Amino acid sequence: MINAKAGMYNWSGPGTVRMINLKYPGDTINSKSVLGAYEYENLRHAKEKLNVTDAWVTYSWGFNPKTEQPDYKFLRSKLENFHKLGIRVHAYVQGPNLVLDDHQDRDYYCRTYNGGLIPYHRGRKMACVNNPYFNKYIRFKIGLALKEEVDGVFVDNCYFGQMPLMVGNKNVSFFGCNCKYCQKKFKNTSGFNIPKYFKIDSDVYRAYKKFRIESLMGFVKDLSKQIKDAGKYFGVNTFDPKFDSNFYYGVDLQQMNDLVDYFLFENHALPRKNNNNVHLESLIKELKKPVFIVSYKQGIGQEDIFRQNDFNAIHTEGLKIGYKPCYKSSEFTTKGEWFNLDFASLDVVKELSDLLIETIDHPPIKQLKFPLLTPFYNKIYPPLLEKYFENMTMRKIGNKFFYSALR
Ligand SMILES: [Zn+2]
Repeated sequence: MINAKAGMYNWSGPGTVRMINLKYPGDTINSKSVLGAYEYENLRHAKEKLNVTDAWVTYSWGFNPKTEQPDYKFLRSKLENFHKLGIRVHAYVQGPNLVLDDHQDRDYYCRTYNGGLIPYHRGRKMACVNNPYFNKYIRFKIGLALKEEVDGVFVDNCYFGQMPLMVGNKNVSFFGCNCKYCQKKFKNTSGFNIPKYFKIDSDVYRAYKKFRIESLMGFVKDLSKQIKDAGKYFGVNTFDPKFDSNFYYGVDLQQMNDLVDYFLFENHALPRKNNNNVHLESLIKELKKPVFIVSYKQGIGQEDIFRQNDFNAIHTEGLKIGYKPCYKSSEFTTKGEWFNLDFASLDVVKELSDLLIETIDHPPIKQLKFPLLTPFYNKIYPPLLEKYFENMTMRKIGNKFFYSALR
């Protein structure tokens, strides 16, 4: 069992600069801050000030291995700094989504109901966990990470295909994947074809939801075996189940218990007035593995630097609820400039006596319902998502709705 006090989510290296440029063209990057994140002195302060025992660090953002050579080299050159301080290193590998321009050699991709690609973020598309080429490719990539002197491999964003949307109370938009591999596998296992949308009270919906969970969990199981066989810790982003994990992501948290060495929930619940992680308290007790939580305040690309009091609040809440804080230490943006946390600027984290942990009875399962006709929704949802990611003006408008829905 992993014996951790606290973690840090800390992205650095040339790959991170490349990814920020892809996601947020036009923004400026404080390279000294972003590229200096794994320097010994900074890490020493992270350990002293925030009790950091575990670091999630950049290995692969989902570019191809040729593009990522400088990224691997950068991390390799910094590993000794972590080792000297006894901080465990978890190499971050992007899960089932790929930078499209960098992966044209094969068709790795998920498909919508009408054959379109499914956007993940700007310039990136969802890859299919049932696609044999993608499976081979991701295992090759993880194999590269396993050769490094790291303690674990963390695979991010393990969810399957398009996310569903509830339309009214009875219908669900198309979700998951409609690629040729999924069509064949679903037909063989259930006898059904993949429909364009679903009535919630139907056999095909139940069969498809099960198929999606089984496909994703089978994929995670294979990764778990590969990483554990190499003697390394394995984790995935298990997503905050504030939103129904089965439904939205195809994730089964109970099955995850046997596959991962720790849970890591990423959310927008940094403890403050009217927001906290109390909704996870009973689940944390139920799960068999340690739970790390990365809490954002505003979300990636919109996050001003956290203050001492934010770190104190997270530390205090972790002690009260029973999770290990994983402190967000990168992707801060002030006036359009990206930078990482300077740990030297912090004091030693302390327990707050006056942290208001409200016992709001958060509904454990939350589904967003849209009052539109299902076929209409199918038509506008993927193109709108594509526009949201690709067009910076649309992104600014969309963010207001998106992040308030998440919180
Ligand atoms: Zn597929």
